[in-house]
Amino acid sequence: MFETLSGRLDGALGRLRRKSRLTQRDVDEALAEIRVALLEADVAVRVVDTILARVEEAAVGAMASASLTPGQQVVKAVHDELLRVLGGEPFRLRYASTPPTVILLAGLQGVGKTTAAAKLALAQLREGRSPLLVAADLQRPGAIEQLRILGERAGVAVVSDGDDPVTVARHGVAEARRLGRDVVIVDTAGRLAIDEALMREVQMVSEAIDPHYRFLVVDAMVGQESVRVAQAFDERLSISAVILTKLDGDARGGAALSVREVVGKPIAFASVGEKLEDFEPFYPDRMASRILG
Ligand code: GDP
Repeated sequence: MFETLSGRLDGALGRLRRKSRLTQRDVDEALAEIRVALLEADVAVRVVDTILARVEEAAVGAMASASLTPGQQVVKAVHDELLRVLGGEPFRLRYASTPPTVILLAGLQGVGKTTAAAKLALAQLREGRSPLLVAADLQRPGAIEQLRILGERAGVAVVSDGDDPVTVARHGVAEARRLGRDVVIVDTAGRLAIDEALMREVQMVSEAIDPHYRFLVVDAMVGQESVRVAQAFDERLSISAVILTKLDGDARGGAALSVREVVGKPIAFASVGEKLEDFEPFYPDRMASRILG
């Protein structure tokens, strides 16, 4: 995960770490390398600029201080910046005082939305909750069947009753209430690109069921482009948080490092593989430490 970025930052900071005195040239070189590393990882330019401005400030401070480890201070500043752009505190799901907690999943096709619905349901089940899955993707042929199969594997029932997504979603939430389920996860249709029809549909579903959470599923492999997608969804849907998928692949890191800062919404969960268990809460501090190696 983020190997290239991690390797490049390590190269830039490795030299600084060992220095007992920093010169302006050391700092300039390191900042230039950090910039290249972040841009190559497909981090949004705006985010790169803020990170660098703050690291530079810390470096100037480190040069002026009598510290015996000025390089370490710069490394710490980079860590703190990564942590900040990744979101600081981890996201916490708060359950509705009157169940069920309603969760809507939205996103483009192929990002791993249906898989994420089943993974989130399994995670809830393992936390002692009683989830219900609702297959409201009536666009993609086989999407309902796919969720049924995944639901069966997770041990979570899947409902999909109705001829249109709004009816299916409404029925699903009502069914969860009737069955006394405490969490209901609604999978919606995705499309290959953002279009008006997709946005209208997901907005209508959202308005019909008024979910507690609207999670946008974002493919980490797509980099900055997925941040633009997230912005577009957020404008129409006011998303609560992001589920970042395919973090097990050779994602460069751009999406993870930009989405929070650009869209202003946290990353709630990370999907890290094809198995249903490959799903975890997103911990910004662990991710920042991992990137810095
Ligand atoms: P949807 O169209 O957004 O509902 O996407 P799907 O849930 O059908 O997933 C599309 C493909 O991505 C499937 O082959 C999944 O197995 C795969 N996939 C989903 N999440 C992950 C992940 O975190 N890592 C990897 N490697 N593959 C994933």
